[in-house]
Amino acid sequence: MELSVVSGGVFKLDGGSMFGIVPKPLWQKICPPDEKNRITNDTNCLLVRKDGRNILVDTGYGDKMTDRDRSIYGMSGSTILESLAARGVSAEDIDLVILSHLHFDHAGGATRMDEEGRAVPAFPNARYVVQKGEWEDALNDYGTMKTTYRPENYRPLMDQGVLTLLEGDTEIEEGVRVEVTGGHTRYHQLVKVESGDTRAAYAGDILPMTTHLRAPYNMAYDLFPYDTMTAKMGLLRQAADEGWLMVWDHDANVSSGRIIGEGDDRYGFEAVRFSP
Ligand SMILES: [Zn+2]
Repeated sequence: MELSVVSGGVFKLDGGSMFGIVPKPLWQKICPPDEKNRITNDTNCLLVRKDGRNILVDTGYGDKMTDRDRSIYGMSGSTILESLAARGVSAEDIDLVILSHLHFDHAGGATRMDEEGRAVPAFPNARYVVQKGEWEDALNDYGTMKTTYRPENYRPLMDQGVLTLLEGDTEIEEGVRVEVTGGHTRYHQLVKVESGDTRAAYAGDILPMTTHLRAPYNMAYDLFPYDTMTAKMGLLRQAADEGWLMVWDHDANVSSGRIIGEGDDRYGFEAVRFSP
């Protein structure tokens, strides 16, 4: 199994919204904001190459954002297709796309605009999976931010018959599991991959950055912050006890590493770079 972190584009969000109830004097010490109070987010996606298959977890925000969106969110960097191409992986090479949830910064790269300006699946040979409850919540626009569920990112997947809806924790293929965490969205899921001695977790938005290791450090976007906190702490305990590798989906500086228990349910990390 070979793991790589692949960016689906960089953007900026208000620092306060990334840290929820934590007062600014505390979070700005570990994550200094720019002059507009924004902090830089990457959209770190996970590429798993395993048994001759290419599995992609999340897709960044894609190439369908308007100029207005791009300016509001300070978007820069490469799309997921560009980042994959830079490491010699084509859109056609991807066999499976697992979406943690359907917010635009995770599902935007799942589709792309074709020559006629229609949104089509960005990975033509891939099966896509997401939780059924997340799909239904996306259709009902059940969120704290009205612009976060954008049908052009996921409707075409269903229309083209390439989307599988999962109901609860599922072993998708050998050594690749999803577990529903709730918290950020009702049916947000994390992804665990295992092969030999290597175990890695993609926590999605319940643990977006290395600055979110402490229990109350959760995003204001979360629908159910308490559930985020309990799911996150459970994952950190397991990761520290069992030596799991971790991916931070929005950290612009450290995208992967190992969790280190510091006692009293506190955790630190050691950066571990996956294959280039
Ligand atoms: Zn996100």
